[in-house]
Amino acid sequence: MQSHVIDALRQAVQHGLVRGESFVDGRWRPGGAAAFGVVDPSTSQMLAQVTGADDALVHEAIASAARAGVPWRERTGKARGELLRAWHALIQTHAGELAALITAEQGKPLTEARGEVEYAASFVEWYAEEARRVYGEVIPSPDVAKRFLVLRQPIGVCAAITPWNYPAAMVTRKVAPALAAGCTVVVKPAEQTPLTALALAELGSRAGLPAGVLSVLAADAEQSSHIGRLLCASDAVRHLSFTGSTEVGRLLATQCAPTLKKLALELGGNAPFIVFDDADPASAAEAVVASKFRNAGQACIAANRIYVQRGVHDRFVAELVARTRALTVGSAHDSGVRVGPLIDAPALAKVEALVADALARGARAVVGGRALAGLCHEPTVIVGGDSSMRCAREEIFGPVAVVIAFEAERDVIVAANDTSFGLAAYVCTRDMARTLRVAEALEYGMVAVNTGLLSSAEVPFGGVKHSGLGREGGRQGIDEYLETKYVCLGAINSEPPAATVKPTKSTLPTQTLTTTQ
Ligand code: NAP
Repeated sequence: MQSHVIDALRQAVQHGLVRGESFVDGRWRPGGAAAFGVVDPSTSQMLAQVTGADDALVHEAIASAARAGVPWRERTGKARGELLRAWHALIQTHAGELAALITAEQGKPLTEARGEVEYAASFVEWYAEEARRVYGEVIPSPDVAKRFLVLRQPIGVCAAITPWNYPAAMVTRKVAPALAAGCTVVVKPAEQTPLTALALAELGSRAGLPAGVLSVLAADAEQSSHIGRLLCASDAVRHLSFTGSTEVGRLLATQCAPTLKKLALELGGNAPFIVFDDADPASAAEAVVASKFRNAGQACIAANRIYVQRGVHDRFVAELVARTRALTVGSAHDSGVRVGPLIDAPALAKVEALVADALARGARAVVGGRALAGLCHEPTVIVGGDSSMRCAREEIFGPVAVVIAFEAERDVIVAANDTSFGLAAYVCTRDMARTLRVAEALEYGMVAVNTGLLSSAEVPFGGVKHSGLGREGGRQGIDEYLETKYVCLGAINSEPPAATVKPTKSTLPTQTLTTTQ
């Protein structure tokens, strides 16, 4: 293990950012449910024992969020923004410790973990600014006696269920817009990665977030399902934001139906990456590496099916193979490692099964193809396959690039859209007309052109079809946490009869002014 990762972890403990408990109503709280271990995927060593939140703690988190909600929404957007800015500053101050926590509990190399902390912090910064831009509307009325106003108000208590692959960013991408809007939040992070979310809550509290505004409930997988049911069943919780698998998203949507909660679902993907003949093969390969191999392929927007037009196929594959061979795989703690371990043994087994299926169907691994010790998988390039392979139909979530040749633009659009998912799609071309034509034809929530990296706090992230509902980030991200209220003002142009007006110190000058105008 790199000594600076150990040092940063030690500092995180010394600075009180790591405790094996939940964070509820502004303080660390042991839960009465079973304790569970948080394991470092790079070393298989236990990092921490965490007590799981029991029912009483879940109800307390919801109740404290409801209590804190009224004074929180009554603050001005500017005042809430200032607290978010203070939280952002503390995240920056403790960026090294947070990155070490991410590397240790999730397994991405330290450089990438630092990038995630920056990305996570950028949502807090962005929504600190957006907090003061929640505009209403005045609608011209067809009736001279009426005025129509539209107010946008916080929805109330929100629940957020987050995945393990981006333990910091998936928390702030939900919490920052919710708090900016005037909502309070109860977060339930993944079993594998609760420590980062808990450290963020502690930092939020130190930044001045009042007790109950942000609580984090730790739980193992079994208790998570139970907590999910409690959050969904609670009428006090008015909104659920979930990032994770489509299967669990569908279940949560069903569970939320009786209480008719507002839902935001960021679910799985099956991203096509289309390289046309006119693209520069080296730049396209570079973009694929950025999209495919970061976080060892464990990203919902990772390129999953790489469609390459016949004329550029061989040159592109040569460029991709050279870059893939150069990637160092191993423990996320070792310097120079670009591809760390997968999150756990079932994740590795799934990737192995998908590779085996592709090879059995006649595809070839031109680089890699094998699982390694320590939950790692060789960065792999598979060619010669087709869309019937499991790895073209399912989310791979591992460092395996699957290249499929195509002939014509119309064919690749059909193939790319032939999936129930619709999160991100990528296109490499130098033809402007084609760029627009293809971007419009792709049934995806996001399309990246000539780049493998599209995420940013400033833009609306989200999918269509079975990839989810709603958008996170950007100006749109705060809308999820706001209700629209229409106010109709009647009898606007009829003054009350003079006799009914009692002259008082405060009304007298106004009345005088009105009647003399
Ligand atoms: P997952 O199994 O759906 O888990 C995600 C979260 O849901 C975890 O906190 C998990 O807790 C919790 N959970 C699982 N079953 C639950 C239930 N029955 N009730 C309530 N909560 C439950 O997904 P994952 O395997 O961790 O994450 C990978 C998936 O997330 C991939 O499909 C990926 O594409 C998707 N993802 C999507 C986005 C996006 O923005 N669209 C971003 C990142 C990831 P436990 O861990 O404790 O079980």
